[in-house]
Amino acid sequence: MAYFQSKPVAGRHFLQIPGPTNVPDRVLRAMDNPTMDHRGPDFGRLGQALLEKVRAVFKTEGPVVIYPASGTGAWEAALVNTLSPGDRVLMCETGWFAHLWHEMATRLQLQPDYIHTDWRRGADVAAIEARLREDKGHEIKAVCVVHNETSTGCTSRIDEVRQAIDAAGHPALLLVDTISSLGSIDYRHDEWGVDVTVAGSQKGLMLPPGLSFNAVSAKALKASETARMPRSFWDWKPMLAANATGYFPYTPATNMLYALDTAVDMLLEEGLDNVFARHDRHAEATRRAVRHWGFETQCAEPRHHSSALTAVRLPEGHSANALRAAILEKFNMSLGNGLGPLNDRVFRIGHLGDFGDLQLVGTLGGVEMGLKAASIPYQAGGVLAAMDYLNGNA
Ligand SMILES: *Cc1c(COP(=O)(O)O)cnc(C)c1O
Repeated sequence: MAYFQSKPVAGRHFLQIPGPTNVPDRVLRAMDNPTMDHRGPDFGRLGQALLEKVRAVFKTEGPVVIYPASGTGAWEAALVNTLSPGDRVLMCETGWFAHLWHEMATRLQLQPDYIHTDWRRGADVAAIEARLREDKGHEIKAVCVVHNETSTGCTSRIDEVRQAIDAAGHPALLLVDTISSLGSIDYRHDEWGVDVTVAGSQKGLMLPPGLSFNAVSAKALKASETARMPRSFWDWKPMLAANATGYFPYTPATNMLYALDTAVDMLLEEGLDNVFARHDRHAEATRRAVRHWGFETQCAEPRHHSSALTAVRLPEGHSANALRAAILEKFNMSLGNGLGPLNDRVFRIGHLGDFGDLQLVGTLGGVEMGLKAASIPYQAGGVLAAMDYLNGNA
């Protein structure tokens, strides 16, 4: 049953929003196994092996906590495990997701300092360093950055954020949202000295929505011993105690863990570096199509272009939502909408997860045909420009 469409359309739906992404058949088959006793002996073996194996994706030797929750839950877990009510945190307004994380911090009675951008680039590293240098009394307890801002298609340089914190000689924790970058854009929890990495299942990890993650540094773990934010469900302590033998303190999302096990195998079989190169290549091909059509990307800083998605600005006076509606109606493809102030100004092409050359060509073909259908002026041949790039960079 095509329960996701108002009228039947032949052919496979193109789910090209920047998450949830397409779930590979191999992952779907892994989920389609009997749910097991989560306190029985088989489960402990699965849990232990998986909790160990998943670390490679974060590039960490430390523990990774897995929650049966969407990414938003793992945001909350990162804050409540490491901080105390009234703590100052430094946040960077890179776009809509950074805005939501900031709202959460405010609701949790933290005191965020907010560094603004024009939503067309990643976090302002110089501003982070300057704010930390001003904070002589070390009142700022954490710096929070969204690695890949899914609302704008801008990727912040976490290596440079680390350097900025070190240059300021500041002891703040570094908390990073990788919900739409993990498993698609190079990321190194240990090497970049990240204290809590927040991730979700439904984007680069190629799983359905429903799991989220905290990779935790030794420094974050130490902070959690004195952090006074109330927490229960999100508390790392009982989680890590149970995880030591492969179990969970409450019922885990068992079949999602089967899926995760398979998805991690797939990423490691392809090789993380190959996965990242594949995303870089598809992103560059997409940008060539966009430029050829005569449009701008929302990201205005070449060093911050996202390899997971491209947000495309339409010329003034044209509706991105009308374009998306036409493409869904005529070609059975979902594209991402503009979020917050970008609503109707941009549309977003997801090119992350389980995604190959022909899916990209089909996706861009759908956009190019849609531009015509929606009567938006464009220069024909963007798909050809993308194919030329793919051919020249096989
Ligand atoms: C999708 C996304 C979120 C929200 O995750 P949910 O799973 O919807 O809770 C947060 N941050 C970023 C960068 C995202 O892409």
